[in-house]
Amino acid sequence: MAFLSLNNISKNYGATAAVRELSLEVERGEFFGLLGPSGCGKTTTLRMIAGLELPDAGRIELDGRDLTQLSPERRGFGMVFQNYALFPHLNVFENVAFGLRARKRPAAEVSSKVADALALVQLPGYEKRRVEELSGGQQQRVAIARAIVIEPLLLLFDEPLSNLDVALREETRRELRELVKRLGLTAIYVTHDQDEAFALCDRIGVMSGGRLLQTGTPRELYERPQSLGVARFLGRNNFIEAMRLSKQHDAHGEFKTLAGGHTLYVPVSAEDLGPINKPAVLSIRPEHISITQGASFPADNVLRATVREVNFAGATTTVRLDADGLQLEALVLRLVGLAPGDSCMVGLPPGRINILKAEG
Ligand code: ATP
Repeated sequence: MAFLSLNNISKNYGATAAVRELSLEVERGEFFGLLGPSGCGKTTTLRMIAGLELPDAGRIELDGRDLTQLSPERRGFGMVFQNYALFPHLNVFENVAFGLRARKRPAAEVSSKVADALALVQLPGYEKRRVEELSGGQQQRVAIARAIVIEPLLLLFDEPLSNLDVALREETRRELRELVKRLGLTAIYVTHDQDEAFALCDRIGVMSGGRLLQTGTPRELYERPQSLGVARFLGRNNFIEAMRLSKQHDAHGEFKTLAGGHTLYVPVSAEDLGPINKPAVLSIRPEHISITQGASFPADNVLRATVREVNFAGATTTVRLDADGLQLEALVLRLVGLAPGDSCMVGLPPGRINILKAEG
């Protein structure tokens, strides 16, 4: 049984459907990300988990217990949001102690737990500091200490690092994941930043338009996007419009590209079996396209192409190619002597091509 489960939750604000029939399961000890563009419903989903909003429909369960209608206080989750929300008139100690005092813990326990929490976020000795004397990163670490000191069943983060500069954000990110893992806590982390989600999370749910499009590990989402929405949102991709021609091959479906009329073979599983003679969209990452100047190489899906543009970017080079009207972008580590106007052979390994669902 999943630790946290959201079953078909929906939330409307007037005519705006912020979250639509969203179902999700998070395991105990998991660092789970909710990723998607601005306005896709991430924050609303997190606020419903926190109890700050009530869903219009659906159920939220923790460890098999229905908490859909429970107040935020009774859920007792730890929360860290973007605008720290530290108490400016209290010092660091009192900020971190806040949740323990609210739970009327004895003074000795408060002191030792606050000291432990500050040690965990690498701020020991800062107890007496006023919060405005701290840097943004230190303030955010105090907010994290305040959330973990109550040893919550669930930690909820909403873009907590977005006010930090890049170097500090990356450092705090590493520390945060390490800390959550060390304490064995379960965390849900909302972000619109793919790098951040990939660096932090064991699994990620990608949202768009109030819906959950796909859930998976960073690698699964990156290498096997199931829909156009996920493929578009996560990194660069070539999208190839094509017509499905046959299904006689067990392992490979045959597609004809609309631009260039090339035949491409793509491994097809039973659930991917789309309609024959209907347009489909295929995707392949630029780094999975290979380029050679030799006559051909022994793989399927080798097309003749002309180099249109070569953009050197230090560690990698981006090459724009035209294969009889099919525009492709390849990302290569080393490009030996190719210049615009040159002919080459381009390989699209069948196993690297995805068949996308149109929705999303
Ligand atoms: P961001 O990354 O910009 O915070 P988000 O993915 O977290 O976006 P939400 O804040 O959940 O998205 O908003 C989802 C939709 O619901 C948006 O269209 C938003 O305008 C709308 N919305 C959110 N909160 C309210 C509210 N209190 N009243 C009315 N509409 C709201």
